Amino acid sequence: MSVRRIGDTLVTRIEEALVPMFDPATFLVPFERAAWDKHLLWMVPNYFDPASQQLMMSFHSYVIRTAHHTILVDSCVGNHKDRMPRATWHRKTYPYLENMAAAGIHPEEIDIVLCTHLHIDHVGWNTRLDNGRWVPTFPNATYLFGKTEFDYWHKLHLSKPADPVGFGSFADSVLPIVEAGKALMMGETHAIDDTMLIEPAPGHSPGHVTLRLTSEGQQAMFVGDIIHHPVQVYYPDWNSRACLWPDQARASRKQVLEHCAEHRALMLPAHFGKPHAGHVHRVGDGYRFEFVA
Ligand SMILES: [Zn+2]
Repeated sequence: MSVRRIGDTLVTRIEEALVPMFDPATFLVPFERAAWDKHLLWMVPNYFDPASQQLMMSFHSYVIRTAHHTILVDSCVGNHKDRMPRATWHRKTYPYLENMAAAGIHPEEIDIVLCTHLHIDHVGWNTRLDNGRWVPTFPNATYLFGKTEFDYWHKLHLSKPADPVGFGSFADSVLPIVEAGKALMMGETHAIDDTMLIEPAPGHSPGHVTLRLTSEGQQAMFVGDIIHHPVQVYYPDWNSRACLWPDQARASRKQVLEHCAEHRALMLPAHFGKPHAGHVHRVGDGYRFEFVA
């Protein structure tokens, strides 16, 4: 757990897990060994685990506390969910709510949940198991889903019942929110108030969005899965294998990097290892990353 201040706003990271996961050579597409090795020195051990030869991946939410709102961005994998054959995320018992409580945040206080997109590891804590039913974990929250994103996965959910979307995450972590009347389907852009703007950044998924926070002249950008690993700051053409539309994912990544560099916006991705966030700097035709502890 870590707390950052952006102007007069508090941003708290709530960790679900920080684990080695995915072989970079198969997770990153394209992947070039020599280009990767050039950065190995600073990536070990926080961003690449030499023992397992896997990327270090964090799974966390951000809670943004302003004078008017308490907003949770992305809700990780969740507990007790049937995810087979995705064994890694099957029936987990993460101390996520305990971590949130330790940060002094209670589920009832969250008034907005934003899912940057509806992949399995961004919707899990939307719901919790209560007497055999999936109920909203954040009972007083409006859940913001991109309409483009929701419609895409909903259509798949209806057309391929034998192949559950997100190994079941759409059915147990998205639909119960809609059925409870707690979902708000956003259009292309959505302003939470005059300090927070949600904007489209498609490619990783059809309706992926980012959230831009501005407070007292400082900016932060919650960028979800626009970028999965810090090496992609140096190689923005490298996608993750989970990026659905490769060319658009590259375009959105470059747009976000350029924005962060130009406006000195703190970039807060969903999966970077410790310390999880930082500033993007322009260097010639490319970028470099400066982690901010
Ligand atoms: Zn993700």
